Amino acid sequence: MLQEKEAHAAEFERTFIAIKPDGVQRGLIAEIISRFERKGYKLVAIKLVIPTNDFAQKHYHDLKERPFFSGLCDFLSSGPVLAMVWEGEGVIKYGRKLIGATDPQKSEPGTIRGDLAVVVGRNIIHGSDGPETAEEEISLWFSPNELISYSSNAEKWIYGVN
Ligand code: UDP
Ligand code: MG
Repeated sequence: MLQEKEAHAAEFERTFIAIKPDGVQRGLIAEIISRFERKGYKLVAIKLVIPTNDFAQKHYHDLKERPFFSGLCDFLSSGPVLAMVWEGEGVIKYGRKLIGATDPQKSEPGTIRGDLAVVVGRNIIHGSDGPETAEEEISLWFSPNELISYSSNAEKWIYGVN
């Protein structure tokens, strides 16, 4: 039974989620964390950091040709960011669903951006967009010893594995 549980746990993926400076300043940390937590995902790393502009540019390197790149990096480095890693089945893709579309005007009600943000430049949260970016972003923001592996009592109720 233990083996079965371990095999199941090994399938879990991890994603990088960050509450941007607007979400932190607006007092939305608990609201946002609770949505991931209540869903059944597991928090495995968390820290509050003010990234340097250089670090923000690394994080958003894929977007460096876009006209909003420099403003975006200035903004991300303008104040505290709550960096997190969440773990669970399908968390990369479903985390993006919880977050909603990039432009809050197009995010569905019920999503984080749909419920809590209005404009694209202040959309309060970041989430990795795929397995490669998740891995890349987790290793950019966290060192391996900051990622906490543990089993939670809720898992057997969330996944139905005994
Ligand atoms: N962004 C912006 N203007 C745009 C598109 C994006 O300011 O026209 C910002 C926005 O904050 C977004 C971030 O750039 O969250 C990264 O863009 P991406 O396309 O990766 O969106 P996300 O993955 O955050 O939904
Ligand atoms: Mg993105």
